[in-house]
Amino acid sequence: MTTLQTLADSLKNCQRCKLAKLGRSQVVFGVGNPNASIMFVGEAPGFHEDKQGEPFVGAAGKLLTDLLLSAGLSRAEVYIANVIKCRPPNNRDPEQDEVDTCKPFLLQQIEMIQPKLVCTLGNWATQTILEKKVGITKVRGQAFKLEKFVVFPLLHPAAALHQGNLLVPLREDFKKLKAYLDRMTAPAENTPASTMSAPSLPAQVQMDLFGA
Ligand code: URA
Repeated sequence: MTTLQTLADSLKNCQRCKLAKLGRSQVVFGVGNPNASIMFVGEAPGFHEDKQGEPFVGAAGKLLTDLLLSAGLSRAEVYIANVIKCRPPNNRDPEQDEVDTCKPFLLQQIEMIQPKLVCTLGNWATQTILEKKVGITKVRGQAFKLEKFVVFPLLHPAAALHQGNLLVPLREDFKKLKAYLDRMTAPAENTPASTMSAPSLPAQVQMDLFGA
């Protein structure tokens, strides 16, 4: 039986794409609760992630930890991974062949963890999971129901570190995430009808996401 650990072990010396030979120190598989209801997906490991072997441990990771707390979540309870598992040279954008090679492993992680909610951070993760060339600014802070889970796109913390004006919208995204989680976990009889039809939630969202 393939488990997260056996999948991680099988990728340790991955040579499937050119990133294996472009200076990566190690494959950065993912971290967190293997039974998480909520999973966060970033783009690719950066310098610190490549050194430490864990996603989101650099400056963007510190900001992510803080944003998680603002939404009432701890790193330990969620699972965190990236679309591609190896650091691109100089943190350049992933290339399509790298995404195509690595995406099946992200999908396998999702298949094994079976999260109810997949929060995509930034354009790469959002477009990879939604399989649509849609800009993050159009879809951020909203829930999209796929067959097996709901996707909740958020701005990427690293984007806000590079462009300070994105910090406020990023925090707003996590506020919307918290409101969504609060709504999904509220006992049905205590959820006022007005909350159930909050305008910020698109029609395709299923209200029974975390329902018993
Ligand atoms: N940015 C990402 O997308 N992933 C990381 O792991 C770190 C920074």
